[in-house]
Amino acid sequence: MVPGPGTLVRVPLGRSTRLGVVWDRPAARAEVALRPLGEVFSMLPPLTPAWLRLVEFAAGYYQRGLGELALAALPPELRRLDGLQLARRLARLDRPPARAGGDADARLEELPELGDEQAAALEAVAVLAGMASPPALLLHGVTGSGKTEVYLRAAARALASGRQVLVLVPEINLTPQLEARFAARFPAHRLASQHSALTPAQRLANWLAAHRGQADLVLGTRMAVFASLPRLGLVVVDEEHDASFKQQDGARYSARDLAVYRGRLEGVPVLLGSATPSLETWHNVAEGRYRAAAMTARVGGGAMPRVRLLDMAALPRAPAGTQPPALAPALRAAIEQRIARGEQSLLLLNRRGYAPVLHCGACGWKSGCPHCSAWRVFHKADRTLRCHHCGFAERVPRACPECGNLDLGAVGRGTEKLEEQMAALLPGARIARIDADTTRGAGALAERLAAVHAGDVDVLVGTQIVAKGHDFRRVTLVAAVNPDGALFSSDFRAPERLFALLMQAAGRAGRDAAQAAGSEMWVQTWHPQHALYRALVAHDYAAFAAAQLGERRAAGLPPFTHLALLRAEARDAAVADGFLRDAAEAAAALPEGDAVTIYPPVPPPLARVAGLERLQMLVESRSRSALQRFLAAWVPALHGVRRTRRGLARWAVDVDPLAI
Ligand code: ADP
Ligand code: ZN
Ligand code: ZN
Repeated sequence: MVPGPGTLVRVPLGRSTRLGVVWDRPAARAEVALRPLGEVFSMLPPLTPAWLRLVEFAAGYYQRGLGELALAALPPELRRLDGLQLARRLARLDRPPARAGGDADARLEELPELGDEQAAALEAVAVLAGMASPPALLLHGVTGSGKTEVYLRAAARALASGRQVLVLVPEINLTPQLEARFAARFPAHRLASQHSALTPAQRLANWLAAHRGQADLVLGTRMAVFASLPRLGLVVVDEEHDASFKQQDGARYSARDLAVYRGRLEGVPVLLGSATPSLETWHNVAEGRYRAAAMTARVGGGAMPRVRLLDMAALPRAPAGTQPPALAPALRAAIEQRIARGEQSLLLLNRRGYAPVLHCGACGWKSGCPHCSAWRVFHKADRTLRCHHCGFAERVPRACPECGNLDLGAVGRGTEKLEEQMAALLPGARIARIDADTTRGAGALAERLAAVHAGDVDVLVGTQIVAKGHDFRRVTLVAAVNPDGALFSSDFRAPERLFALLMQAAGRAGRDAAQAAGSEMWVQTWHPQHALYRALVAHDYAAFAAAQLGERRAAGLPPFTHLALLRAEARDAAVADGFLRDAAEAAAALPEGDAVTIYPPVPPPLARVAGLERLQMLVESRSRSALQRFLAAWVPALHGVRRTRRGLARWAVDVDPLAI
């Protein structure tokens, strides 16, 4: 008996065996001699046809090998085990799982009554659940409008009809609190999380629990989009606009887009939740491809914080030779007021470290990274200069390495310095910092967040980590200290990201309805007239999106065109450039070549990383399917082109790239 498609097997390869997935029935007559299969994992149910199609689609769409993608979509630990070992693991797992508490889920009568907009959103999900091929549903709700509650109610319905629920979140940091809410709501169901912070054994156990249908809830980061869920009934993508749904190496897939595909494939509703939807999703709604439900009011009638633009140009100039203060006097006074009232303030600065660059005033030396086209950041706590791109770190030199000047200056400001300045500016205030540097250790982030929740912090300084998702109850003031940089970035998505970040950050203030009335979001800016900030003041996502989409349409950018990037890296830029030019030449010979425009190779904003020169070439088409047909012919040809270019370190195709 030949095992059916989806069966997990071990296949002989040379002298060893490898994990494999039976994909098709074997051809009647093979053209090459085949070796017999090794072990067949008949103790596991086969992967479903829908799972196989999802992986097949992802491999085709993102131009990667089918086997590569399939194996990447399975838990790494599974690759190592033979049948006996796997059987042993399963016997462990078959004991009844520990449940959070009690045998019954929360009863509907015990739950708060839904608001009108929440009820309408839930009804929209119910309509989709009754359709054979439902479109995706955008849940466009301001922060604190009760989107998570809608997810929970929709999940309850799916679970009640015996189906599984998949919830995708952008960051591992955000899984614990959402996990806690789902676990508290559904104590009678097993929840299996899937993200990279789990041990390999946990990952395997959780994967198996979902695959065997024992876990009904899977919550995870982008990789979880490939979870094996034989009874899938609902997919939720929380904060669907978030860039971390896009994988940035290997198979560069968008978990958000694959979730939508998966929903269509399996005929189940997909909920895309966001206060600031991606422009792609917004456009899809406008074009009628997705549906939308809007939630414009905060739960409990709480107001959105008042947004105040602080015109930095109107402030008196700092005396020559001194640095301007981190906070304008009015902002400082507003924070002092909050402290006096026992409320919290959150200062957002999207740059970690003490100062982005060290500088010698005598000879002009700067703390460049020898391996990258980037500055090394000064970290005061451990007195290092650290490159955030390649990790290269050295102790801060005592004197200028070029001229021996002892007086090196720190230029600019990161969160570490802001924390220090706040301590000096606000004596007696309890200040905490949350960024990648202060939250490295296991549990460090949770510990710091707990201190904030407990009211042990007056002023929280942080990077974008603090802007997302957290349900801070005592924060009534949020300030963006220096957000202007993104306004004039060469990255066409930078304004979209900035707007989303600022809206998210604003959403951290006034979450407790009792305090919402006095809550504020301050923005220190040199460009208070900028349309992005005007839309922020009005809390008007729609206006912002319309303006951005207008610019994108005029400039021929996504979502009005479809893009792929061919990237190449080599020690010698000429090698990478040569490869890309050869690739462009190979494209001209393809029949589909005239459906796409190929632009000349250019260096990306960060042209050198870890000693490798990078170049990239943009491929653009008005039609997604034409681009797909072109790539399907072109990418295989590139393997041949590559062989003629010695010294090329690597190349990759990025379909729907986030940055160009
Ligand atoms: P969002 O996900 O949109 O930020 P949440 O779902 O977290 O919003 O809701 C914000 C707060 O309001 C949470 O504390 C939640 O428990 C509460 N909440 C949500 N819906 C309701 C409701 N219908 N009645 C009362 N409280 C609610
Ligand atoms: Zn010098
Ligand atoms: Zn570097």
